[in-house]
Amino acid sequence: MKYLEDAVVVSNREIRPGIWSMWLRSPQICAATLPGQFVHVKVDASLTPLLRRPLSIGRVHGDQLELVWRVVGTGTDMLTDVRPGVTLNLLGPLGQPFTREVNASHRVLVGGGLGLPPLVYLYEWFREHDLPVTLHLGVSGRADIPLAEDDPLLNEIEITAENGEGFRKGLVTEPVLEQLQALETDGSLGSTALYSCGPWGLVNALQRTIPHSQLKLAEVSLEQQMGCGVGVCQGCAVIVEGGDTPYQLVCSDGPVFPLAAVHPPGVA
Ligand SMILES: Cc1cc2nc3c(=O)[nH]c(=O)nc-3n(C[C@H](O)[C@H](O)[C@H](O)COP(=O)(O)OP(=O)(O)OC[C@H]3O[C@@H](n4cnc5c(N)ncnc54)[C@H](O)[C@@H]3O)c2cc1C
Repeated sequence: MKYLEDAVVVSNREIRPGIWSMWLRSPQICAATLPGQFVHVKVDASLTPLLRRPLSIGRVHGDQLELVWRVVGTGTDMLTDVRPGVTLNLLGPLGQPFTREVNASHRVLVGGGLGLPPLVYLYEWFREHDLPVTLHLGVSGRADIPLAEDDPLLNEIEITAENGEGFRKGLVTEPVLEQLQALETDGSLGSTALYSCGPWGLVNALQRTIPHSQLKLAEVSLEQQMGCGVGVCQGCAVIVEGGDTPYQLVCSDGPVFPLAAVHPPGVA
């Protein structure tokens, strides 16, 4: 069930330079959503910008949800001016959620930069259900971590930074591969589920480097510019193998797809 809901902004703050976190009270969407889904946000009540902007549903606590975004253009910049108490119109929850694999022996979550929010929601879901889960985050440096410096998750998840800066230095695929190799050694690779979200570079690196075909499940959440968000305008088509047609829509068939089946834009 999708809702068009006027959500009340509870807080809105810059957690890193250019990265913002907003909590909104949105009872209907919170009650209906699952990890991996997103909302289409009307950033301003006026006609400018006309189109809504898609943002992943991050943490959901009771009747409040978190949105975390990087300012990249008009819409995301306008959201930084929104003050607590104001309402924002949300359409959601949209899209297909991650498969919540409860029968896996382990769950490995891999986020790249701003790909983290939907995985935080999934991570907390698995934790609440007492299911073993590891969350890896890859960033360039501390300034790119989409968590506030005082966020308890910062000390709970595995962070790999290209610049080091107090974290493991390198690419996030390295600790992920090590963990998968350890799971292979103890015979549980085939019962492991992997979930990812991040830039195409990360998706491509995971496709190339990890033994995803040996896993129980490997899913990726894609980001693509979109118009309507509900499968009408066809503006967010991507090439995905194994469907009825060569193209699938990120907004309604996705954003979650099998990792092995997706192709970067323009690559068939
Ligand atoms: C399902 C989904 C979930 C998303 N979740 C998040 C999230 O949790 N946090 C977050 O920061 N962003 C997320 N995004 C991306 C976010 O929607 C865009 O950054 C936002 O719409 C940009 O709006 P804008 O008006 O600020 O920029 P615009 O003025 O529309 O564009 C500014 C620049 O960004 C580029 N751009 C815009 N959207 C995208 C995109 N989807 N992919 C690549 N380039 C883009 C444009 O080509 C342009 O160069 C998500 C996208 C999708 C499809």
